[in-house]
Amino acid sequence: AWSLEQGAEGPETPIQVVLRVRPMSAAELRRGEQSALHCSGTRTLQVRNSPQSPPQRGGEPRATRRQLRPSPALPGESLSPPGALPSPPPQVSPPGGGPDVAFRFGAVLDGARTQEDVFRACGVRRLAELALRGFSCTVFTFGQTGSGKTYTLTGPPPQGEGVPVPPSLAGIMQRTFAWLLDRVQHLGAPVTLHASYLEIYNEQVRDLLSLGSSRPLLVRWNKTRGFYVEQLRVVEFGSLEALMELLQMGLSRRRSSAHTLNQASSRSHALLTLYVSRPASQQMPSVDPREPPVGGKLCFVDLAGSEKVAATGSRGELMLEANSINRSLLALGHCLSLLLDPQRKQSHIPFRDSKLTKLLADSLGGRGVTLMVACVSPSAQCLPETLSTLRYASRAQ
Ligand code: ADP
Ligand code: MG
Repeated sequence: AWSLEQGAEGPETPIQVVLRVRPMSAAELRRGEQSALHCSGTRTLQVRNSPQSPPQRGGEPRATRRQLRPSPALPGESLSPPGALPSPPPQVSPPGGGPDVAFRFGAVLDGARTQEDVFRACGVRRLAELALRGFSCTVFTFGQTGSGKTYTLTGPPPQGEGVPVPPSLAGIMQRTFAWLLDRVQHLGAPVTLHASYLEIYNEQVRDLLSLGSSRPLLVRWNKTRGFYVEQLRVVEFGSLEALMELLQMGLSRRRSSAHTLNQASSRSHALLTLYVSRPASQQMPSVDPREPPVGGKLCFVDLAGSEKVAATGSRGELMLEANSINRSLLALGHCLSLLLDPQRKQSHIPFRDSKLTKLLADSLGGRGVTLMVACVSPSAQCLPETLSTLRYASRAQ
């Protein structure tokens, strides 16, 4: 039965980790790069540390070919059964002495998986349902630049002016939006929906929906709301079309930001938040009318590339970027591992270490669910970065 009350039973597993391996790109194939990854089953990824040598088990096809072969049954909704999320599987230790290292995640999705497969396997509908019930949930994509983070969340960029992206390529965000609005309509429940969209670049917050100037905004804290962005534009919307327009506005501003044009890669974190508010009768009076309403939240975070920018010899501004990207990703990893460590449940979680962790504090530290989609390239050329993504993602579960 529909209820706006928070259920007594909260979500059981606070952090879900899904791994997505994108297909080999045309450029990688042209350069004759080999795949270093092999998805075995629906939850295990095998990494071949020496991609030029054949696998240890005799007669197996090469990983590049296996990569393109569709895997067996999808984990599908198994990640989100009604009531509770399953606990994460333990990590498999590397087979003794062999070149392969195996990693286990809530789901492993190979390059043959469609956007719809990914949406289903990630169980995002469960997170949206929790947000409707008053929880704060977060979906974020993590990985090096070019690994498919933006594609996974929002699909490919439009191919030209007025050329629409086919609906089959829509990302997790568009699919969740459609599901959520449909759900709200069917429930006929008195909920109000708002959205905000911001970017964190060099530890500065910029409003992607602002009508006026885009000067940096301040992150503040108060007792009722926790951390919030002062003067952030929070827009009420009543239809899927209106929400899609907000998404497109933010996406195109993000693509045309000075730093995106200067760099081939994306060095900012983008956060789109949906706020689900209860009927006025159930809502606490807001002190400040500019403050977003109190209630459930669903936040989508397209993180900056996780690669070590400093290693390329960046200086000056680029170095500052590298430091602030690494700082917030390190802070995020640190918070996640503290939250997961049963020994340190009561300990202080350092959300204040970065703007990113401040803004994610309520869903990470509260009773909501966080979904991390770790994105990697299959190419052996990317292996060092892929391994660091896999380790980061493993530590978060
Ligand atoms: P990131 O946001 O991690 O830097 P992108 O999402 O921009 O990476 O992906 C890099 C390129 O690869 C883009 O051209 C994107 O369209 C393409 N791409 C990523 N994932 C897939 C996929 N699963 N299927 C097809 N193309 C993909
Ligand atoms: Mg991107």
